[in-house]
Amino acid sequence: MNKLTQKALSLAESPFIHSAKVLAVRTWEPDSMREIDLHLPDCDMRRWNSAQHIKFKVGNFVYRDYTPSGWDAETRTCTLIVVTAHDGPGSRWGRSLKAGNMVSYLGVDSSHQQPAPGRPLVFLGDETAIGHFLALRQLAGNGVAISGAVILSEEHHRDEFGQYFTGWGLQSLRKKSSKDYFELEEWVTGLSIEEHKDTIFYLAGYSREMVKLRRLLRRRG
Ligand SMILES: Cc1cc2nc3c(=O)[nH]c(=O)nc-3n(C[C@H](O)[C@H](O)[C@H](O)COP(=O)(O)OP(=O)(O)OC[C@H]3O[C@@H](n4cnc5c(N)ncnc54)[C@H](O)[C@@H]3O)c2cc1C
Repeated sequence: MNKLTQKALSLAESPFIHSAKVLAVRTWEPDSMREIDLHLPDCDMRRWNSAQHIKFKVGNFVYRDYTPSGWDAETRTCTLIVVTAHDGPGSRWGRSLKAGNMVSYLGVDSSHQQPAPGRPLVFLGDETAIGHFLALRQLAGNGVAISGAVILSEEHHRDEFGQYFTGWGLQSLRKKSSKDYFELEEWVTGLSIEEHKDTIFYLAGYSREMVKLRRLLRRRG
């Protein structure tokens, strides 16, 4: 892309761009998992009644979606849980962030997933979906039966997952390679259909694998 085209594109993009400030970054061990606290002064979070996703600018005209969790509408702050293990611009962006940095985002949109009132919820996904599940838990409030399984690449992240999310009926499973969701499929295969007649299943994560998991759930009735 030549300089003139870049300038024209950034002028076209600029009315839609908002800024947010990185307040803090906490890394898990190993650091391919990062919690990023943000302040988004332009963002009205009061009407968030479903899990949201924010389209961040992670490079020149390159955008990636991340899910805000733990939001506080009064202070306009939230936390992203970003997996930085992939060889892509989103992961590189996540690795580069430090407290005090300003970041740009195009907008916030709904995932259209909300906790179904009065129904048991089962969350199924990978590490990129932890923010999404935290958002659903925040919306569900206390007293809702939450269970499910999250598949993680790093053994130590499973320990940290357990420490951070005690009190959930959520299990952590081991992903043996980056695209191996076998353990999650096994977990679904082992579910008792009788016990889950009223359950609502929420799937989030690597889209190719989630499509397979949805098919498996359908096959199981
Ligand atoms: C609505 C929505 C919400 C999202 N929320 C989050 C979030 O809260 N946290 C988060 O970490 N990510 C989230 N993601 C995923 C995120 O937007 C990026 O897709 C992810 O960070 C990878 O981007 P990248 O630029 O690093 O890699 P890309 O350039 O997109 O891909 C680089 C390589 O990594 C592989 N790859 C990408 N993702 C995965 C994966 N999950 N498993 C295995 N291989 C993969 C690709 O196949 C490719 O080979 C969300 C995505 C969507 C659509």
